[in-house]
Amino acid sequence: MSNLRFHAVKESMSRIPVQIEERERRSELFGSHTFNETAMRQHLSKDAYKGVMSAIKKGTKIDRNIADQVASSMKDWALSKGATHYTHWFQPLTGATAEKHDAFFETVGAGMAVEKFEGSQLVQQEPDASSFPNGGIRNTFEARGYTAWDPTSPAFVYGTTLCIPTVFVAYTGEALDYKTPLLRALQAVDSAAVDVCKYFDKNVKKVNASLGWEQEYFLIDSALVNSRPDLVLTGRTLLGHSSAKGQQLDDHYFGTIPNRALAYMRDLEHECMLLGIPVKTRHNEVAPNQFELAPIYDEANLAVDHNSLLMDVMNKVAERHNFRVLFHEKPFAGVNGSGKHNNWSLSTDTGINLLSPSKTPMSNLQFLTFFINTIKAVNEYEELLRAAIASASNDHRLGANEAPPAIISVFIGAQLTKVLHDLENVTKGKLSPQEKTDLKLNVVGKIPEILLDNTDRNRTSPFAFTGNKFEFRAVGSRSNCASAMTVLNTIVAKQLIDFKQEVDVLIAKKDMKKDDAIFNVLREYIKQSKRILFEGNGYSDEWEKEAKKRKLSNNKTTPEALKAKVSESSLKLFEDLNVMNRVESEARYEIEMEEYILRIQIESRVIGDIARNHVVPTAIKYQNTLIENVSGLKEVYGTGFKKLAKEQMSLIEQISGHIEMINTKITQMIDARKSANNIEDIEKKADAYCFKVKPFFDEIRYHSDKLELLVDDEIWPLTKYRELLFTK
Ligand code: ADP
Ligand code: MG
Repeated sequence: MSNLRFHAVKESMSRIPVQIEERERRSELFGSHTFNETAMRQHLSKDAYKGVMSAIKKGTKIDRNIADQVASSMKDWALSKGATHYTHWFQPLTGATAEKHDAFFETVGAGMAVEKFEGSQLVQQEPDASSFPNGGIRNTFEARGYTAWDPTSPAFVYGTTLCIPTVFVAYTGEALDYKTPLLRALQAVDSAAVDVCKYFDKNVKKVNASLGWEQEYFLIDSALVNSRPDLVLTGRTLLGHSSAKGQQLDDHYFGTIPNRALAYMRDLEHECMLLGIPVKTRHNEVAPNQFELAPIYDEANLAVDHNSLLMDVMNKVAERHNFRVLFHEKPFAGVNGSGKHNNWSLSTDTGINLLSPSKTPMSNLQFLTFFINTIKAVNEYEELLRAAIASASNDHRLGANEAPPAIISVFIGAQLTKVLHDLENVTKGKLSPQEKTDLKLNVVGKIPEILLDNTDRNRTSPFAFTGNKFEFRAVGSRSNCASAMTVLNTIVAKQLIDFKQEVDVLIAKKDMKKDDAIFNVLREYIKQSKRILFEGNGYSDEWEKEAKKRKLSNNKTTPEALKAKVSESSLKLFEDLNVMNRVESEARYEIEMEEYILRIQIESRVIGDIARNHVVPTAIKYQNTLIENVSGLKEVYGTGFKKLAKEQMSLIEQISGHIEMINTKITQMIDARKSANNIEDIEKKADAYCFKVKPFFDEIRYHSDKLELLVDDEIWPLTKYRELLFTK
């Protein structure tokens, strides 16, 4: 047929998996295309090596001379890996990664040329990047933005380009990217956590936040994706009746990975090994053609870079395999969407995971300190945490009958619930020596045995303690993890600072022993944070009612959720902790609102176009066939035709009904869009798109999906769900 659909299905069915041979061991490949510590040891002079390591570990400045040495060695190393170009690699607020390649090649007169790369080119660049979103920070007359080298994330060679991870800031110093606030948040949590660790171990000098993300995605044949304008332009299907078989049988989840997908994964994992992304786990997810990939966790900044890089690499490798990767949170209605779980913890330079309970009472007090402070932080800033994961696409999961809900709560499991309960009830007043001993032996002393076989799991909780880390499960699959990680680490930093102050006051003014003071403050925190703890079914209506009673926020849409980013308490939080000043916070808010508006606007245009220009004409074509049939019957059978043409006539009428509804709704939607576009105020405009334009999507879809069930399959223009989801 003129029909893209049939060609696409045919093409996709005839694919043969691109087989990849794995000759080398992964441990030998790992990181071989990164300028990591080993490579630096080999290629840098002693001074240069020391300079960079001190910058990484202590945040010291790298002087000009050292930078020149590093650049020159980095260039030689990169050339040996086949690089011809270099780029400052950064993460602007578009959500994608950005790069602008420059060749090492330079002419030096008299027809001669050399490969050259200097310290100044390594350390700082001024890309002409005035078209990235900046929320009004950069007026055109001072549109300069700078990228600056982040030595804590190793440079890498991808393809033929040396990529140098950088931050991206305005001439005036404001952050224009994801990385800058994240680095500041990590700094804040480091310093706050070190101060608290000193209660327990004076030797702790650095605390690192760790992140282990789990990336879910759909893998769909590229020809099938290309045959669907909605998938191509919006990343999700705006129309399409569900397939008779979806995920009901749970036969995809953890099943045998289909050959083509496996070949893709092996190729992808090979690339990841070269780039030092420590991918470890792969499996089928719940929905058909949905998969998951997870690495071994890493320091948070590096893990964020790795996830951004991974998403790029996934797209590139997919091209070789004639696949398209769908990162959208909800590409298909009626089957599960995708998320990106963020496993998070804090660990010291002395090798202690601060969220891992251990055998000795002292370290358990330390565990409880970080555990309870994290819960308290989430309780205080639950609305901000929800805002950190808000996006037009994630709205399809959060609070939309698919977990986790738009309500933030913390799951800790039955054993720890009991521990907190016991702690809370130790004594009403000051801890007496007798009770203190009891407490240590009977409460704290018991934690390790209980936890060693802690297998509690609650899949409906957005923020769950999983034995030695928290798992933030509501992050969107296409999001940059930096947003969630910046907020989480900032609120925990703030909480730890407050905690230290309160404990110090008790020690100084009330003459309390350190342990008593810590217990007393923690006990108060348990009482204050109770409302955030929830062990039940997060998807249930009862929880929604209960959460309302507890005064927890339940912001189901992005425009509602984002407002928490510019509340006075958030602005002050980010400012006090030097994560973002008010200009930066407000600019980000504006960028995200604007992005929301644009995404809904694009979806609205696409759904209008497909429904009107693809679906309705096809329905009319089929209706004409039916009409021909009816009039033929009339010619042949005369007045007796009515009995014979009854079903056809009913179909003709049903089709007319749906066509009418589609056209009416599209016209109304366009009007709503026009009014929305006339609104100046960004909040009101986002609200209009959310509550006046978007609701038409479901109505139009309903009628279009009904037509899909009525119209001849032979002429239906859109590739169907069963084809998209079940072609392997
Ligand atoms: P499960 O979710 O089944 O318990 P794991 O415990 O193996 O599986 O961990 C899931 C993810 O959590 C993995 O990506 C892993 O790297 C990450 N992870 C494990 N420990 C930590 C930690 N201390 N900090 C951050 N992420 C972690
Ligand atoms: Mg998980």
